[in-house]
Amino acid sequence: MLKFFNSLTRKKEEFVPKGDKVKMYSCGPTVYSYPHIGNMRAYLFVDNIRRVLKYNGFEIDGAMNITDVGHLTSDADEGEDKMLVASARENKTPFEIAKFYTNIFMEDVKKLNIDLPEHICPATTVINEIIEFVKGLLDNGYAYLTSKGVYFDISKFSAYGSLGGSVDQKRAGARIEVDDEKRHPADFALWIKAPKEHIMQWESPWGMGYPGWHIECSTIGKKFLGEYIDIHTGGVDHKTIHHENEIAQSDCLEGHKVVHFWMHNEFLQIDSGKMSKSLNNTFTLADLEKNGFSSEDFRYFYFGAHYSKQQNFTYNALTSARNSLINFKKAVNEHKKGQCKLSQDKIEDYENKFLEAINDDLNMPVALAVCQKLLKEEKSKDVYDLIMKFNQILGLNFDENKNDNIETPSEILELANQRWQAKQERDFNKADNLRKIILEKGYKILDTKEGFNIEKI
Ligand code: AMP
Ligand code: ZN
Repeated sequence: MLKFFNSLTRKKEEFVPKGDKVKMYSCGPTVYSYPHIGNMRAYLFVDNIRRVLKYNGFEIDGAMNITDVGHLTSDADEGEDKMLVASARENKTPFEIAKFYTNIFMEDVKKLNIDLPEHICPATTVINEIIEFVKGLLDNGYAYLTSKGVYFDISKFSAYGSLGGSVDQKRAGARIEVDDEKRHPADFALWIKAPKEHIMQWESPWGMGYPGWHIECSTIGKKFLGEYIDIHTGGVDHKTIHHENEIAQSDCLEGHKVVHFWMHNEFLQIDSGKMSKSLNNTFTLADLEKNGFSSEDFRYFYFGAHYSKQQNFTYNALTSARNSLINFKKAVNEHKKGQCKLSQDKIEDYENKFLEAINDDLNMPVALAVCQKLLKEEKSKDVYDLIMKFNQILGLNFDENKNDNIETPSEILELANQRWQAKQERDFNKADNLRKIILEKGYKILDTKEGFNIEKI
């Protein structure tokens, strides 16, 4: 039985889709700067769910937005549009900014071998649909017009707050009480009237303007997936404002509950604290590459913690992930040529245990432990075949030709990592000594732009 934790009911529940295909919506990136590895945890989470659904035989119809307008510097309708901030910073048009960072995002997800949703949709391409959505809410009496734009009236939706605490606790409202045209401080913008100098604006029945941030997800979900969505994902930071607002918009327009399962990934932390652009403590995939790590090392690192728990990023933790990945691949490879047979009972037992782990709300640490145990069996092609099956979930690359490190003994890898660590700590004497030791053992380290490679002499 496949079970996911549903943030709405705060329970693990059996997952059963409403129709033939699983309809899945995922909040996408705001393309105003380089995505960091914390953001990537959110998309590895999407990948993880999609692969587990497919492994269970489901077909998926998935959609994801690209936020290229309307996300203000605060989630609560305050501050400037993030796209315009970036546009001023980089002296480019918001469209150029969006294009540039969307491309980077796409490259990163490709490097991480992330199985992306079927429909990826920039908000600026659905402005007409957004306007129709807002009109619908005005017609139904869930929205009202002020001199600043169109607002959602949360007092009309009794279920408001079902994902995260009471309305009164919402800082979202508390900070904008100055707007005395709003009926409730937590009412949020669906459409914002734009001053002349605002670069991104479109015609609407309410004058020139641009959409609020939350409405794009409800609109894109409706456009591609319809009025029933089985799973909606996003990071925990979106739970109490963005997702609450999405629920209000969609449920009030359709007149019924739209999303069944709400699933949230916890944060990737740094030094046990928040990783955020404002704290200037973020890393990108490119940063990891500069330090000699591959995207796949990070993918493997992701599996080390359950998505619902905070995961702490350190280069040491990434180094251990990389070492275990190298050992993992090496072991898999050795099984490829193995002569022993694994009994049918054992094969089934491993298959069941693996399935049980992934179907228990994506318990990847346990699923990996099953693989590790399996790899300790006598060398057998059956083990290799089983790992290849499990790899539908892991999404790792076992192509020997593409893996330079696979034949490198773990002792050399260990020394190379120690050398890398010494370089990070600017202990160049130690780094040089380690290079010599590695040379004496018959291997050469070649520093590259992305990190280092090891070559047998
Ligand atoms: P944004 O581009 O800011 O809209 O964020 C894209 C996605 O990344 C959202 O689902 C966020 O919830 C998620 N996210 C942001 N920071 C982190 C983090 N440090 N760890 C995990 N997910 C994050
Ligand atoms: Zn969203």
